[in-house]
Amino acid sequence: MFRKRESIEIKSMEQIAKMREAGLVVASTLRLVADAVRPGISTKELDVIAHDNILHMGASPSFLGYHGFPAVICTSVNDEVVHGIPGSRVLHEGDLISIDCGAIVDGWHGDAAISVLVGDVAPEVAELSRLTEASMWAGLAQARAGGRLSDIGHAVEAVINAAGDYGIVEEYVGHGIGTSMHMHPPVPNYGKPGQGPRLSVGMALAIEPMVCLGSSEVGVLTDGWTVVTSDHRYAAHWEHTVAITEDGPWVLTSLDDIHL
Ligand code: MG
Ligand code: MG
Repeated sequence: MFRKRESIEIKSMEQIAKMREAGLVVASTLRLVADAVRPGISTKELDVIAHDNILHMGASPSFLGYHGFPAVICTSVNDEVVHGIPGSRVLHEGDLISIDCGAIVDGWHGDAAISVLVGDVAPEVAELSRLTEASMWAGLAQARAGGRLSDIGHAVEAVINAAGDYGIVEEYVGHGIGTSMHMHPPVPNYGKPGQGPRLSVGMALAIEPMVCLGSSEVGVLTDGWTVVTSDHRYAAHWEHTVAITEDGPWVLTSLDDIHL
């Protein structure tokens, strides 16, 4: 998985500041969309809210047209893990919707995702989302100069495995990010620590665990995009873009200024 000949893009602090601008667009968009989530709203309506906000903030959506993707956000409901396409589907009480958003400012990318509970959901579903977010934060905390790339996935996996019998999706992983959305290196959500490239100041990574209530086995719907769990149990997805700075991990896609 870790091919030596591919290098990891190193950013200056000025460039990371640009990524922070993109990250704030993503963060505010996700906040607006999350606030709009309620029983009765369609995923297309959420997409319009996201598109309007990204344009209003003077940024560009990075998903629209990406390999032909037809929308600004990904909306993945219940057994949908990632890459769900917004449309006429209406949310219902008890649903879990994962919303993934990317934006570009002056050529620099931000990418983040949240899972949102629709009204009252089953306790096991709320716990799945909480755990997935906690595992993401454990991974983000490992984005430090001097560490190794696999320390991140190991930290994610440790949180999930300590919590019980959940499935961590392996086919889809986090990634380097900067002048493109998806860059080297891949960032798996599992693995032994102390392996892969040495982390250094100026790297930026998108860390994004996808966790299932049941089996981690997934498939893709005939729309060519939507990834679903094979057993149709719920999945959650959380993501932040983080920069490795002299002072440690800087979470670029949070509304709050978070340095871990
Ligand atoms: Mg994303
Ligand atoms: Mg991503």
